[in-house]
Amino acid sequence: MAKLTDPITVLKGVGPSKAKQFATLNIFTLEDLLCHFPRGYEDRTRLITIDKLEVDKPACFRAMVMGTPQTHKVRKGLDITKVRVADHTARLNLTFFNQKFTTDRLVYGKEYIFYGTLTGDYVGYSMTSPVFEELDSPPILTRRVMPIYPLTAGLSNASVLKAVEQALAICPTPGEVLPESVRAQYGILPAERAYQAIHQPASMTEAELAKKRLIFEEFFVFSAGLSLMRAARAGKKLPPYKDTELQAFYGALPFSLTGAQLRAIGEIVNDLKRGTPMNRLVQGDVGSGKTMVAAAAAYLAVKNGKQAALMAPTEILAEQHYKSLSKLLTPLGVRVSLLTGSLTPKNKKEVRSLIEAGETDLVVGTHALVSESTVFCDLGLVIADEQHRFGVGQRSALSGKGADPHLLVMSATPIPRTLALLMYGDLEVSILDELPPGRQQTDTFLVGESYRARINAFIRKQVAEGHQCYVVCPAVEENGDLDITAATVWAETLQKTVFPDLRVALLHGQMKGAEKEAVMGSFARQEADVLVATTVIEVGVDVPNATLMVIEDADRFGLSQLHQLRGRVGRGSAKSYCILVSHSKNADTNGRLKALCSTTDGFKIAEEDLKLRGPGDFFGARQSGLPVFRVASLSCDLQTLKEAQQASARWIEAEGTAQTPEAMALRSRIGTLFQRSQGTMN
Ligand code: ADP
Ligand code: MG
Repeated sequence: MAKLTDPITVLKGVGPSKAKQFATLNIFTLEDLLCHFPRGYEDRTRLITIDKLEVDKPACFRAMVMGTPQTHKVRKGLDITKVRVADHTARLNLTFFNQKFTTDRLVYGKEYIFYGTLTGDYVGYSMTSPVFEELDSPPILTRRVMPIYPLTAGLSNASVLKAVEQALAICPTPGEVLPESVRAQYGILPAERAYQAIHQPASMTEAELAKKRLIFEEFFVFSAGLSLMRAARAGKKLPPYKDTELQAFYGALPFSLTGAQLRAIGEIVNDLKRGTPMNRLVQGDVGSGKTMVAAAAAYLAVKNGKQAALMAPTEILAEQHYKSLSKLLTPLGVRVSLLTGSLTPKNKKEVRSLIEAGETDLVVGTHALVSESTVFCDLGLVIADEQHRFGVGQRSALSGKGADPHLLVMSATPIPRTLALLMYGDLEVSILDELPPGRQQTDTFLVGESYRARINAFIRKQVAEGHQCYVVCPAVEENGDLDITAATVWAETLQKTVFPDLRVALLHGQMKGAEKEAVMGSFARQEADVLVATTVIEVGVDVPNATLMVIEDADRFGLSQLHQLRGRVGRGSAKSYCILVSHSKNADTNGRLKALCSTTDGFKIAEEDLKLRGPGDFFGARQSGLPVFRVASLSCDLQTLKEAQQASARWIEAEGTAQTPEAMALRSRIGTLFQRSQGTMN
C-alpha cells in the first residue's frame, strides 16, 4: 500500500517527464493527484440504438463493423479512415482523422461499443472520431461517467484518468475530517466514498453528491479554522487602552465625520478598551472615508504609548496614506514614517532603525515591508487597507508573531454576507453605510462601438472643463485575442490619432514600481489629461479631479470589479461619469452591465455578482486573500456554503478544542490549510 505523501512517480507510467507535466498542475504527491478534481463530467452511460442517435447529443451505441476500414492519404500529414457500422436499426458511416493506428483495431464483423456525436442532416448523417471499446472490455472510455480533468500541455485526460485510477487502487484516500454527527445531519458521504466517487462516479447523481461533500468539507474546515483563530485571539490578554479621548483628533479634521464613521470609531474604542486583541473589519464603499477611521485608531494607539502600522497593498496607496496621515497627525504629536520598496536601501535601514528604537509612532508602508522583516519596538495596532490582499494566511501569521497586536482590516470590496461570514468569520464587522455629504452619484452608461465618436467628444469636453479622465482596458498588450483592447496599443492610438493635442499617459501592472509611481504622481498633479490604465488603478487611487472613466470591453470584468473601478471617479465635488463600452451581443451580459448603471450600492452589486457567477467565480476573482479552495472552482451552491458555515460554527463551539480523534483530525487539517494559504498570499 502506498502513502498519500508518496511522489506520483510510484505510479506505473509516470516517469520523470510525465511528473514534470503533472508538476505544472501543482501535482507532486498521490494526495495532490487525488485532490485534482474533475472540472466536469461527460455522461457516457446512455446506451441506445443507432436510430435513436440525435445530432449534437453524444451517446453510446453498440454496433457491428460492416467492412474493413479504408484509409486514404488526403495530403501530407492528413489521413482519413472511413468505416461503416450497423446495428439492427440502422447503418452509420464513421470517419477518423489520422487515427489509422486506432482504427486498425476495428475488425470486420465484430461488435463494439462506440461513443460519439452524430453530425449531419437529412442528406446524410455521419460521426467523426468516436471512441470505442470491445464488448467484453472494462468500461473505460464508454458506458461510464467520464471525468474531465483540468489539463496542461502534453498531458491528456486519459493519462490523468489512468494515474488517478491507479492511485485510488494503491493508496488510501485523504482521511475523514468531518465529524460523524455533522455528516449524519447533512446527509454527507464519508470521505473515502467521496474521493472514489468524485473520480469514478457510477452516475451523475453520485458525482454531484461527492462534489457536495468535498465542497462542504473545504468550507467547513476553513470556517472552523477561522472560529478557532477567533477563539484563540479572544483568549489573549492585553492591557486595555485607558486614554480614549478623541476631541483633539476631531478638532484637527477639516470636516466633521459622518454618523457611520463615528459609529465605527466608537466600536473600535470599545474593542481597544476591552483588554483582548481587536479583530475588526471596517467595510465601506469606496469614498466612505475609511482612512479617517483608521487614523482615529492609530491616534489612540499612539496616545496609549504603542506603535501602529498601516499596510497598503500598493506603493501608490501607501504614499497617499502617508501624505494625508502625516498632514493630519504630525501636528497632534504623532511621528509618522513611510516604508516602501522604492526607498533607497539606506533610507529603508534608517526607517527600520527608527521603528525598532521606538522613535516613530505610525509606520505607513506596503504589506510586505511592514509584515515581513520589520521589527517593531512596541507594535500595538496593525491596520490593513484593502483586505482582499490581506488574507487569512496573513492574519494568522500576524497573531502567530506572538505580540498579538490589535487588528483593523479595511475593505472597500462589498462582500455578500454569506461569503463575508466565511471569509472573515474571525472578524467583527463595522459597516460604513453613509458617504460624506456633498458627494454626487456617478452616472453610468452602457454603450456600444457606435458611440465611439460621442465618447471621444465627451472626453474632450471633460478635459476642456479642466477635468481628467481614466480609460481602463482589460489587457496590457495584444495577446492574439483581437477582441480585447490592449492598454499599450490603445494609449498610442488615442495619443497619436484621436487626441494629438491632449496629454495621454499609460499605466499598467507590468511597469516597474517607480515608473508606476511617476505616472500616478504626474496624473495626480494634472500633468496628464487622459490616463489609459489596466486594473492596477482598481484599489485606492485618489485623484478627485478625475471625473470620467471609460471602461473598454466592460463585459470582460466582473460586476464588483467594475464597481470598484468606477469608485476612482466621483471623488470630488464635480459631477462624474462612467461609460461602459461593451461589444457583447449576449443579453445576459448586457443585463448584468445594465444593473451596474442603475445602482451604486456596492452590496447590491456584489449580491448580483454572486447570483450570476456563483461562489466559485467569486472566490476565483479574489483568490489572493483566500486559501486555495480546491473545490470552490467547481461550481457550488450557496446553500452548501451556508450549511457548512453553520455546521462548523456550532460544532467548533461545542467540541472544537476537545482531545477526541475527530477534533484532532479536524485541527490538523486546518493547520495544513492555513499553512498552505500562507504560502500563496501576496
Ligand atoms: P475610502 O478609503 O473609504 O475609499 P477615503 O478615506 O479615501 O475613502 O476618503 C475619501 C475622501 O473623502 C478623502 O478625500 C477624505 O479626505 C474625504 N472624507 C473622509 N471623510 C469625510 C467626511 N466625513 N466629510 C468629508 N470628506 C471626508
Ligand atoms: Mg481607502
